[in-house]
Amino acid sequence: MTTLATVLITGASSGIGATYAKRFARRGHDLVLVARDKERLEALAAQLREENGIAVEVLQADLTSATDLSAVEARLREDFRIGVLINNAGLAQAGGFVQQSADAIDRLVSLNVLAVTRLAAAVAPRFAQSGTGAIVNLGSVVGFAPEFGMSVYGATKAFVLFLSQGLHLELSAKGVYVQAVLPAATRTEIWERAGFDINALPEVMDVEELVDAALIGYDRRELVTIPPLHVEERWSTLDQARQGLMSDIRQAHAAERYQPESVQ
Ligand code: NAP
Repeated sequence: MTTLATVLITGASSGIGATYAKRFARRGHDLVLVARDKERLEALAAQLREENGIAVEVLQADLTSATDLSAVEARLREDFRIGVLINNAGLAQAGGFVQQSADAIDRLVSLNVLAVTRLAAAVAPRFAQSGTGAIVNLGSVVGFAPEFGMSVYGATKAFVLFLSQGLHLELSAKGVYVQAVLPAATRTEIWERAGFDINALPEVMDVEELVDAALIGYDRRELVTIPPLHVEERWSTLDQARQGLMSDIRQAHAAERYQPESVQ
């Protein structure tokens, strides 16, 4: 009998992370739940142990703290039972770029970019060595849309997509599966925490529907899963356009329109 991999989920105390925890628990995986709110994690852990007969451990960590982040990295490096990382913890912020304080930008980038990258980097060498393992990174459709006016948050999520694509290219041949999940507005606490009124949005997806769809993409081993995207070809068209652009990058000389003789 093969033992199912343990799944480490960041941001497991609420929303998308808590829902991933419930779904992997139902599939029979042992879990390591990471977030700051220990009481909520313990309550969820007790419920999942009781309902599913699995082992669930709570790892309290503020992933914007250097000490706590190092502890989670060490766990990912050293615990050979962990075969899946759900890199989910993240936060959003209301307000335009000129209203954001240095501290707020620091927190956002530390959690959404630095922690995501360092946790993936902590586990990837071990996964590559063993020829197995999965890294799931939570991006957002906001990463496609500077028009939404969430410039720093959107930039962090564009980073997550790029990182996932790069990791896929580097690691898939070594047997490591990488998935970027890009939700649109989903009913979780992130909105209230960021100071947005979720009820002002015309359409919101339920979190169970989002995670169940993301897991269908996971089971299909998709690189990019966008549950709210109804016309699938839109993604392949965008990716082909990107590759077309790359094929017209010639680095020896500037393009004709930038040659001195073409400037009036
Ligand atoms: P959520 O309900 O607010 O959950 C965020 C999770 O991250 C919580 O468990 C929170 O737990 C944890 N967290 C926050 N700050 C942390 C820190 N400093 N250290 C460790 N954990 C921290 O929001 P969600 O919607 O489920 O968000 C999950 C992911 O989905 C995020 O990456 C988000 O950007 C992405 N996403 C969400 C939506 C949406 O509309 N909901 C859309 C696109 C993408 P504690 O407070 O206990 O630490």
